[in-house]
Amino acid sequence: MGAPGSGKGTQAKNIVKRFGYTHISTGESLRALAKSKDITSKELDALEAMKEGHLVPDWLVYQVAFKEIDRCLDKNGGVVLDGAIRTVSQAEQYQNYFKNKKMDHEVMVIEIFLDDDEAYYRLVHRKVCKDCKQVYPNPEVKQIPEFCTLCHGELVMRADDNEVVAHNRIHEQGNALISPLHQYYKNLGMLHVVDGKKNMEDVEKEIGHILELDI
Ligand code: AMP
Repeated sequence: MGAPGSGKGTQAKNIVKRFGYTHISTGESLRALAKSKDITSKELDALEAMKEGHLVPDWLVYQVAFKEIDRCLDKNGGVVLDGAIRTVSQAEQYQNYFKNKKMDHEVMVIEIFLDDDEAYYRLVHRKVCKDCKQVYPNPEVKQIPEFCTLCHGELVMRADDNEVVAHNRIHEQGNALISPLHQYYKNLGMLHVVDGKKNMEDVEKEIGHILELDI
């Protein structure tokens, strides 16, 4: 978990590459659902919140997340949940889900901490590959190329990274929302925090150490 722009997606992809788990990003699943031809009118209405930078209703998060987690667990694979748990009530629901599967002791939580101002700056400056979804972060740190260096796809700004929506996302999904979640997982002894201000490679190393120690 972490504020929007903290690097959850990038680091989730790194974990997947290194440890072979499946990446489940509720944000990506919801964006895919929004483009799907089979979307219901109830889902379409619920997705309106996402356009404005608000949280979508819990039932929609559980619908996309639990289906994908079930699919991976059926194949005995591990999963990296990226942004799938953003409120304490969601965290409780996921804990129940993991308890029912008798795997609550196998879950660990990593928070990438980044302050809200830095997170906002990153959102409005980053670009993402239209095809493979690789994120190209802060242009001040690294020049953003014209095309994706992985798949040569076009680099675009995410629709919800515009200034108004990014502001709503930080306001509603930033550290004020994360702090009770942080406390919830700390009390359960499940939480590891890494400093999201460090460069991508160092954050990756730190997360790697945490996972190697715990696995
Ligand atoms: P992300 O790609 O993680 O930045 O998520 C994009 C958008 O999807 C968010 O701004 C929310 O509108 C929605 N979203 C993703 N995950 C959740 C969640 N766990 N709870 C509620 N809304 C979510």
